[in-house]
Amino acid sequence: VVLTPLLIMAQKTKPLYKDNKAPLEKRVEDLLQRMTLEEKILQTNQWTYGKNANENNIESIQKGVRPEIGSLIYRSISPVYRNQIMRKAMEDSRLGIPILMGFDVIHGYRTIYPIPLAQACSWNQELVKKAAAVAAKESRLSGVDWTFSPMVDVARDPRWGRVAEGYGEDPYANSVFCVATVNGYQGKNLSDPFSIAACLKHYIGYSLSEGGRDYHSSDVSAQTLWETFMPPFHAGVKAGAATLMSAFNDISGVPASANHYTLTEVLKERWKHDGFVVSDWGSIENLIPQGVAKDRKEATLKSFLAGVEMDMVDNVYVENLAQLVKEKKIPESKIDDAVRRILRLKFRLGLFDNPYVQELSEKDRYYQPESMAVAQQLAEESMVLLKNSNQILPLSSDVKQIALIGPMVKDQINMMGSWEGQGIESSVETIFEGFTKEFSSKAVINYAKGCEFDGTDEKGFAEAVAMAQKSDVVVLCMGEMKKWSGENTSRSSIGLPMIQHKLLAELKKTGKKIILVLSNGRPLELGDLESLSDAIIEIWQPGIAGGTPLAGIVSGRLNPSGKLAITFPLATGQIPIYYSMRQPARPKIGGYKDISNEPKYWFGHGLSYANFSYGTVKISSDKIDKKSNLIAEVEVTNTSNRSGKETVFWYISDPVASISRPMKELKFFEKLELKAGEKKVFKFEINPERDLSFPDTNGKMHLETGDFYLTINDQRVKFELIE
Ligand code: BGC
Repeated sequence: VVLTPLLIMAQKTKPLYKDNKAPLEKRVEDLLQRMTLEEKILQTNQWTYGKNANENNIESIQKGVRPEIGSLIYRSISPVYRNQIMRKAMEDSRLGIPILMGFDVIHGYRTIYPIPLAQACSWNQELVKKAAAVAAKESRLSGVDWTFSPMVDVARDPRWGRVAEGYGEDPYANSVFCVATVNGYQGKNLSDPFSIAACLKHYIGYSLSEGGRDYHSSDVSAQTLWETFMPPFHAGVKAGAATLMSAFNDISGVPASANHYTLTEVLKERWKHDGFVVSDWGSIENLIPQGVAKDRKEATLKSFLAGVEMDMVDNVYVENLAQLVKEKKIPESKIDDAVRRILRLKFRLGLFDNPYVQELSEKDRYYQPESMAVAQQLAEESMVLLKNSNQILPLSSDVKQIALIGPMVKDQINMMGSWEGQGIESSVETIFEGFTKEFSSKAVINYAKGCEFDGTDEKGFAEAVAMAQKSDVVVLCMGEMKKWSGENTSRSSIGLPMIQHKLLAELKKTGKKIILVLSNGRPLELGDLESLSDAIIEIWQPGIAGGTPLAGIVSGRLNPSGKLAITFPLATGQIPIYYSMRQPARPKIGGYKDISNEPKYWFGHGLSYANFSYGTVKISSDKIDKKSNLIAEVEVTNTSNRSGKETVFWYISDPVASISRPMKELKFFEKLELKAGEKKVFKFEINPERDLSFPDTNGKMHLETGDFYLTINDQRVKFELIE
């Protein structure tokens, strides 16, 4: 190259992509046209050390990391370490492109919140958003730019352990909490100092793995795809979610990570998503065992052409894309499109202008008082009072001795649940600590472990029984270990191990009242755990601040307000069972001959210490046309002498349509606090386009005239939609 004076000048002036005043898309294009094919392909690579090892060793990552890679997924994060790696990218690479640092922040980074399934049971989207915002701040301060969350797979099969990671069985609930979480992570603007990029996962149909077996095939009909699985993803895309993750499963034989229809036709063309899709861990290479690619090269071709822009840790893109371009199987313009999307996010996050993070001490990064307050309130509002025979709860002041029994009482690690981020076991407040504080001046706490979570050792039973005998009431805390739910934790039966049932049966023999406290990551088949208990509190895996809220609910200082976001089956054999099942042909006579057709607890179930009485539902008109809204109102009175929070669920049913519709569908909910004696009007404005239409097998929405029902608790109000 002859260096003409013009060229020399051009080299001296700052390139446009480095100019933070230039428009974002211009910066992207400027950078893109400077990149070689190899540099572009490196951007599509998300790297981790070694063959799929999410390595903890900083030196080995630093040695292995190429400064030109698009992203790094890693665990051993600190601001110092991030800055070291980032400095390599900014200073040791030709163009100085920042690396996107990714990490699974699922329910908190260091301040661990309740698992997402529990969060949904709070029905408090503001609180869920706040928790995501705190998680984002802690992440960003630690050097993380991008989380692989929220998981918005509508989940109706609790044998699948990943029900813990999402917002339950309902598409609308998943949509609402998806949007709240995305907004919490991403803030008003991705370039805000404490925002991180969200990733909607697992796109799509993953939760329908046959038999609840993780990583297996999902048989998703086109109707179910659009009616059940797409809505939360669409809502998240509309809310601006920066990225999506393609799932492991196939849909009618086409793997989600090689699915042109969902990844390109729907996501990019119809929904105009301008961010990018990352594969799930190994999901491109998995196309080989799935039987649609003969080798890594063909897997690359299929996944890339379908619309997966970034390869999570398989290193198949860096290995094969250049050759595929050479062979003209992939046009370079398609590589440009992928890189453009990846660079766009890096610019949006402000990484080119501010690649480094402040190196604050841990004390300044984590457990800030406002974060802890959110952790505690979210734990409180997500706890569900499932049963309360004879109003045994809250405990009366006559209770002077409490037998606090069970493997969960002094547990810390299991209370965090799976995907505990950078949570630290010793930071978890135990149930024991919560009770000791709560009851310090009111009652004596008699503790015994009783048994382990699993196994056959009954040696601890005698001590537990002795504690029960000398106490006025038993609070028995049991449930699942963290490793029993989450990824790759499918179970063929969703009950608790026999040893836990036996312990409860032994305690029951003492004749003492039993308050059962359950901590688990999925709905359980309770069996005699339910019949032998006088009260049951589902606390899920509440995170680091569950002890105090639980003790507060037991003592009556707090009033429970959680309601189930997922149905508890009566028996594992009923699965799938969910409230919005399609209308059956013979509703009265069809079903099981050996057990009831009713689950143990339906979606929406949850008790309070207050009593809420509902007035008659009023609607603004019993006929509306397609362009007008209908206003529905119901007055709710707290007839008790204590304040409480009530969630009103508004359901709609379409009894006759061109296709059979679900029995009812949740369209709106609202949670409000009502003081003792207070009345409040809950209102829902029905928008026909949004609330009365349904999709066909290609996602086109149809709004059909005719009768509809609005359902609130046991009230059903009819109205008609006319042209
Ligand atoms: C999981 C994803 C997760 C990814 C990265 C995968 O095995 O399915 O949910 O985000 O690993 O850790």
